[in-house]
Amino acid sequence: RAKQQGRNNYQFYSPEMNTTAREQLELETDLRKALTKDELLLYYQPQVDINTGEIIGLEALLRWQHPQIGVIPPNQFIPLAEETGLICPIGEWVIRTACEQHQAWYAAGLPLMRIAVNLSARQFQQRDLVKTIVQILQETQTQPCYLELEITESIAMQDVEFTVAVLQELRQMGIQIAMDDFGTGYSSLNSIKHFPPHTLKIDQSFVRDLLIDPSDAAIARAVIALGQGLHLKVLAEGVETVEQLEFLRTLGCQSAQGYLFSKPLPPVAITQLLREKTIPIQLESSTRPKEGQSAVA
Ligand code: C2E
Ligand code: MG
Ligand code: MG
Ligand code: MG
Repeated sequence: RAKQQGRNNYQFYSPEMNTTAREQLELETDLRKALTKDELLLYYQPQVDINTGEIIGLEALLRWQHPQIGVIPPNQFIPLAEETGLICPIGEWVIRTACEQHQAWYAAGLPLMRIAVNLSARQFQQRDLVKTIVQILQETQTQPCYLELEITESIAMQDVEFTVAVLQELRQMGIQIAMDDFGTGYSSLNSIKHFPPHTLKIDQSFVRDLLIDPSDAAIARAVIALGQGLHLKVLAEGVETVEQLEFLRTLGCQSAQGYLFSKPLPPVAITQLLREKTIPIQLESSTRPKEGQSAVA
């Protein structure tokens, strides 16, 4: 068992790991406890208008504050949460917490900001997803237009008719839908035909080498053209340098998210950014911000 190797060797579940059923059950228990013991928290990353630097939304990103080892990123526990079904109560907690935070910022006199929440494909198999979301919106007095759900192309792998109906219902309520990691799935074009989103998020893997890899540049250009043709908003993920930003702007991309503007931050730090409303873009420097540091002083 990974834990018995001592704190510093603590290993996390990953699908590649050859864990026994018992080990997996222990990890599951840990994660279940994490929810009840208040060890989960949300960081938020600003999404900005590419031309003005104005904050247009915030993406909620899950973290696990482990009492011994500190903050654990989602890639190290979400696969297990999905496999065990724990993603459903966790996902519900994420939506509720994001809406509560939205209300808290509003109550503090800050500008109303749309909050994007990541939904796992597994959550769409819950028959009462819409009911749960309606209830959370009511309880937290959040207007549906301030909630954005980020889905991925993988939802196309399941009961398509049911998923289409759920998304249709969510759209009709006024909830925004974004297609996350766009272009990395198996049926990108098919998925936006069946599950039309409001926004396409260009995956960061296409943004990273935008200036050195002609195929990445071609893909980014095509996604932006696709967005224009289908009247969808396009947001570039993982923007780290001014050069990437300038290039995306030239291609006609409207919005961006990435370390260039800000890393995902705890709510208290976001409060400060929301007071300023805009993240100034440093045109002179293109170096990556260091850990914990953002483009904002
Ligand atoms: P994602 O939704 O595509 O989120 C973007 C990820 O890229 C985040 O990683 C973010 O911290 C990171 N990122 C943002 N800007 C930059 C940049 O400029 N450079 C680089 N290298 N990375 C950047 P994070 O927070 O570790 O989340 C990873 C993934 O975990 C997310 O990818 C999402 O798929 C999943 N996730 C996060 N929170 C939730 C959640 O509440 N529910 C579900 N189901 N999945 C979640
Ligand atoms: Mg996302
Ligand atoms: Mg993404
Ligand atoms: Mg991702």
